[in-house]
Amino acid sequence: MEPVIKKIDVQEAAVPLKRPFKTALRTVTTAQTLIVKMTTSDGKVGYGEAAPTPVITGDTLPSIESAINDVIGPKLIGKPLFDSADIKATIDQSMVHNSSPKAALNIAVNDLLAQSYGVPLYQLLGGHSDHITTDYTVSVGTIEDMITQAQDLITKGFTTLKIKVGDDSEEADLDKIVAIRKAVGPAIQIRLDANQGWHPKQAVAVINRMRELNLNVQLVEQPVKATDFDGLAYVTANTTTMIMADESIFSIEDAARIISMRGCDIINLKLMKAGGIDNAVKINTLAEAAGIPCMVGSMIESSVSVTAAAHLAAAKRNIQYVDLDASMMFSSNPIAGGIINQKNEISFPDLPGLGFK
Ligand code: MG
Repeated sequence: MEPVIKKIDVQEAAVPLKRPFKTALRTVTTAQTLIVKMTTSDGKVGYGEAAPTPVITGDTLPSIESAINDVIGPKLIGKPLFDSADIKATIDQSMVHNSSPKAALNIAVNDLLAQSYGVPLYQLLGGHSDHITTDYTVSVGTIEDMITQAQDLITKGFTTLKIKVGDDSEEADLDKIVAIRKAVGPAIQIRLDANQGWHPKQAVAVINRMRELNLNVQLVEQPVKATDFDGLAYVTANTTTMIMADESIFSIEDAARIISMRGCDIINLKLMKAGGIDNAVKINTLAEAAGIPCMVGSMIESSVSVTAAAHLAAAKRNIQYVDLDASMMFSSNPIAGGIINQKNEISFPDLPGLGFK
């Protein structure tokens, strides 16, 4: 008999970070996250995760729990797993916004599908590669502190560093990148994330100045406010450094608009923004058709949803950049299993689905 979705459990997990994580918008020390456990009538368990990021998605722990327990979850109970298109549409259409709870449920469904087919999820999604290489984000601090972190990361095997900018003066940002570039040498890739911290003209001035100083910045993420699509397109048109859209693109509609404006050079896909794997796949397909590569990133998420993001990143040819260091920032995982981190490389256990035990 065809398996149906029988039960959906939601559990809060507090996962301690190895060190506080700071961006232009917030500081995080212990990550509160929410793990979804979806059980089918044939006894399989699929996992998902929703990380609350009120300043980015608007989703909080109570809002996520309520969305799953009171609104979306009840509509999924009893649905045949292999009517997956219908299940996924129900998740998307049961309520507007709430991309994180939708992501958690969509991830769990994908885990169950891949388990049922007996293959790791990345193979079901495309199987482009069986491993990926991630960058690591240097936490915001004094220049000396950031250099120490950068050198430590290089010793640990990382070859691409992501550095947060945009929460300080332009001069301070420039000084910081000059000092870090000098300390790490030319072989290390440096990516910047301004997390919406600049005005468009300011962004153009700083990014072009970095180019003049030969700082060899690989890409700059979200230089301007999320809602300023014109500003993002202006920065993209007036710089020669690759500009990536992150907070500007949540939905497929956002992606279509920005792509039609030629508003970015790269798109950062995050499951918590897109509402899960399937919508991220759709954005990636749209981007690929327009000649725009994608990155897969994450919020401060634990190993459950980072594992799902890693499966997506490995599956697709057009996903050329990976920023999945989040789960490495924790001292423990909420569930055993999932991705294997070795230096800057992420690989997958030879298990069906997401590979949780
Ligand atoms: Mg970002």
